Amino acid sequence: MTERHQQPDIASDRIVMLGVNGGPVLAPDEAKPALALVVNDAVYLVDCGLDTSRQLLTAGLGFAGIRGIFITHHHLDHTSGLPGLLLHGWTARPPLPAVDIWGPPGAKQKATQLLAGFEDEIALFQAGGGFGDFTAPAGHDVEVPLEGGIVPVMEDDNVRVEATRVFHGPEVADAYAYRFSVKGTGKVVVFSGDTAAHDANLAAIARGCDVLVHETQDNSAIERIAAGLPHPRGEELKKHLFEAHSSVLDLPAVAQGAHAKKLVFSHYTPVAHPPAVWLAMATPAAEAIGYKGEIIAPKALDVIPL
Ligand SMILES: [Zn+2]
Ligand SMILES: [Zn+2]
Repeated sequence: MTERHQQPDIASDRIVMLGVNGGPVLAPDEAKPALALVVNDAVYLVDCGLDTSRQLLTAGLGFAGIRGIFITHHHLDHTSGLPGLLLHGWTARPPLPAVDIWGPPGAKQKATQLLAGFEDEIALFQAGGGFGDFTAPAGHDVEVPLEGGIVPVMEDDNVRVEATRVFHGPEVADAYAYRFSVKGTGKVVVFSGDTAAHDANLAAIARGCDVLVHETQDNSAIERIAAGLPHPRGEELKKHLFEAHSSVLDLPAVAQGAHAKKLVFSHYTPVAHPPAVWLAMATPAAEAIGYKGEIIAPKALDVIPL
């Protein structure tokens, strides 16, 4: 996480995998979920895990280009980097511009309350240090009907963003996948968010996409990890992981079903295997069903050109 990564073509549209380690338990040298879609140098953030600010700097993206933040759901591995992003984005040179946060219901309230308790810190550097006035983010609740469907989220010069709801366990009322359609090139990128394969709404929003970025789980590691936890936490964890996430073995079929041209893994749980291990699990599954699209198992800070 410390070296500065070389980007293959700084000018091209791309996805930067800022953090690909899923779940709320921190591990050394593993960055939590955050993905950056870069279009014409504008940065669209999908989720904002703890390490987002540091990863933006290490990736060479910085804060000034951020046009919006899209939260897939309110699990803390996807949101705990928000306060730090706003505070350190404000003091960055050049700084984070006034930013909008979209997400499931609760996003609007979250945006206004994120820095409750930091009034003194903000006031101190507004009074001195040359950082200017702090601008609070604007939050937007994205409403997707319970029966599903694809709803518009946001549109600007570069992209059109839409969302649908995906199943992510019964306790998560609202979990979203996002589709970004790039206006200049016609490329379509879909981010699954956290979800359990196979999800019919995800298949619909991902239909024919150029890149499907999908969460990824090694189900074979779950029993071992759950066995190491005291009762009943092990059983609770096992239930959540099996019913709310997607086995890597199912992902080629998800991509095949959606006619996705490329499948990119993200949000690895419950273990952080090296990329080659994830690929070794997925490749036979892809061959068995004849999925011909490219499959990429990135590590943090890897760049996927569009
Ligand atoms: Zn997650
Ligand atoms: Zn989650």
